[in-house]
Amino acid sequence: MSVISLRSITKSYYLGLSAVPVLHGIDLDIEKGEYLSIVGSSGSGKSTLMNIIGCMDKPTSGSYILNGKNVENMTDHELSEIRNTEIGFVYQTFNLLMRKNVFDNVLLPLQYMRSRKADRSTVLKLIERVGLKERIYHKPNELSGGQRQRVAIARALAAGPSLLLADEPTGNLDSATTREIMKLFDELHEEGVTIIIVTHEHEIAQHTRKIITLHDGRTQSRIFKKKTNSLRP
Ligand code: ADP
Ligand code: MG
Repeated sequence: MSVISLRSITKSYYLGLSAVPVLHGIDLDIEKGEYLSIVGSSGSGKSTLMNIIGCMDKPTSGSYILNGKNVENMTDHELSEIRNTEIGFVYQTFNLLMRKNVFDNVLLPLQYMRSRKADRSTVLKLIERVGLKERIYHKPNELSGGQRQRVAIARALAAGPSLLLADEPTGNLDSATTREIMKLFDELHEEGVTIIIVTHEHEIAQHTRKIITLHDGRTQSRIFKKKTNSLRP
């Protein structure tokens, strides 16, 4: 079963009375464990699509089934529950809480989950997993950009989501740090995490098995590669 199934998704923004169409009928299926990138130039609608997939925004028309449930029929409460438990977000600007240390930033999503007690050992494991054990009590301003993004990735995984969404995750990083972060995404994919990365850089997209190109709100091309076992350097 697909984790995500989008059919004929359109999105228009309304500025006053005039509609600005941004997405023009997107069809997309994403299976469990898939590693996908969405590429396209600035303004092509990548973040708009990502926000719809992440239940941050609703489409103007079309259907969206997430883990077998129709998103259209969900209440705001159900949507926020899904955002807190099913979806992990990673942003270009990291979006960490600057006053909180690494541990507390990663713990945060677990504190929003009513069904599960905030689990300190999960947090510790994730911080170790992203290689920041030595920085656990540091605040974001004491970390490099790459380390901050590692914290953000650990935080995104904390609630055990079925889907990891990353919108230009290396957009603020130099090329060496970009390679490090992409290696981490590659490894998470190998471990079975379902990942969607939005990027305008084709080099980043080359890491993933499927590449979808957006052009003016339409999918222009789809590339599906064979699975390889070797991780890129
Ligand atoms: P990308 O992420 O590919 O750069 P976006 O999805 O951010 O593209 O934006 C696609 C188009 O939608 C752009 O023309 C942008 O100006 C417009 N847009 C994005 N968000 C809004 C908004 N909240 N209100 C109006 N227009 C928007
Ligand atoms: Mg964008």
